[in-house]
Amino acid sequence: MSDNNKIPYKIYLSEDEIPKQWYNVRADMKNKPAPLLNPATLKPMGFEDLRPVFCDELIKQELDDTTPYIDIPQEVQDFYKMYRPSPLVRAYCLEKALGTPAKIYYKFEGNNTSGSHKLNSAIVQAYYAKKQGLKGVTTETGAGQWGTALSMASAYLGIDCKVYMVKVSYEQKPFRREVMRTYGASVTPSPSMDTEIGRKINAEHPGTTGSLGCAISEAVEVATKTEGYRYVLGSVLNQVLLHQTVIGLEAKAALDKYNITPDVIIGCAGGGSNLGGLISPFMGEKLRGEKDYRIVAVEPASCPSFTRGKFAYDFCDTGMVCPLAKMYTLGSNFIPSANHAGGLRYHGMSPILSQLYHDGYMEAISVEQTSVFEAAQQFARVEGILPAPESSHAIRAAIDEALKCKETGEKKTILFGLTGTGYFDMVAYQKFNDGEMTDYIPSDEELAKSFATLPKVEG
Ligand SMILES: *Cc1c(COP(=O)(O)O)cnc(C)c1O
Repeated sequence: MSDNNKIPYKIYLSEDEIPKQWYNVRADMKNKPAPLLNPATLKPMGFEDLRPVFCDELIKQELDDTTPYIDIPQEVQDFYKMYRPSPLVRAYCLEKALGTPAKIYYKFEGNNTSGSHKLNSAIVQAYYAKKQGLKGVTTETGAGQWGTALSMASAYLGIDCKVYMVKVSYEQKPFRREVMRTYGASVTPSPSMDTEIGRKINAEHPGTTGSLGCAISEAVEVATKTEGYRYVLGSVLNQVLLHQTVIGLEAKAALDKYNITPDVIIGCAGGGSNLGGLISPFMGEKLRGEKDYRIVAVEPASCPSFTRGKFAYDFCDTGMVCPLAKMYTLGSNFIPSANHAGGLRYHGMSPILSQLYHDGYMEAISVEQTSVFEAAQQFARVEGILPAPESSHAIRAAIDEALKCKETGEKKTILFGLTGTGYFDMVAYQKFNDGEMTDYIPSDEELAKSFATLPKVEG
């Protein structure tokens, strides 16, 4: 489309255009993601093996590498209608501020109380738990977005929700905690004294402020030892990426209305769920040889799973109770430096995205946090939205791409995922505003130490 003025600031879809099916990109992948392995036997895990941990329907989705489209239950579609479709925004104001000939679009997922895309999967996982007749779900949360999303979904469906929150966040983000409690979830700082693994970690590391991997172990232990409970996870897993494809399907439908084809698609990557969800329909076209797109994952330089990690089987948690996944990983006991404020601190990465990256279908870059917050500030001032630090990794990369276009005169179309808002991240913003934010890049020696703990698994 040559006439810019015809494209509105926001391209909305109607309620009827909210996707009725998720798209399963694995159906179009020649090299499927490697199976999850049992941590004790190192054998691939089938349906029965996963039943003590996950809900039945979600296991089916986790293991389904072949069905391209999977129906979204009507109840979930109805819930989506409360806050979807999310807007696809043409960043005219940012383009102008940058003086770039590039056209920038972003898909904004922060328009709900959880403040991020995580609600898209939380409602699905809570729905299948309820449908199976379970009493409740357990999970971990780091910064708190996932715990908030799951507590909202659980409250809506009337099931119990137990959240293990990394202790440092529990103490530093009391407001997140209160949002979850308002929605009826119980929130326990991790490591706690409620679980075997929690007591062990507390004994071995007195005064520890916890980690995501440790909170996962606690939540899994509680789920497997409490009747009527299952564990749910907010990222990394194939099922989560599947649910998040509503982002990409909506984005593509909106762009198609105006015959817009992105040249570059950019997303931040923590465990890979928003990026996977955004790119899936575009990646499908690429995998089927119908179209080509440049697809870029953006991660923090202090937690560089794609750009400096190893593609190997690894534990998903510290306590080594979860299945092993083959993914780009920094090692399951890697913990980003204490000064890291920008989220995306998980050691591993979605097995689907890991395989696609390994096979050359996408690129990855890492960015340092001060430059991420510079981009966040610039974006907030012109586009009006206060972005989450996680989302701001994608903003950084989109701005850099647009500035390159300014040099070369290329009129590229850039699409990026704006995953959420940063209202609960004001301590990080404060550090940045006070000039106290620093960058930290782990040394090769540090990474080698955590690589040394990777399990020895063939394949
Ligand atoms: C959780 C989160 C992310 C990172 O998770 P992915 O699974 O990599 O998408 C990014 N942005 C926001 C706002 C989040 O809450």
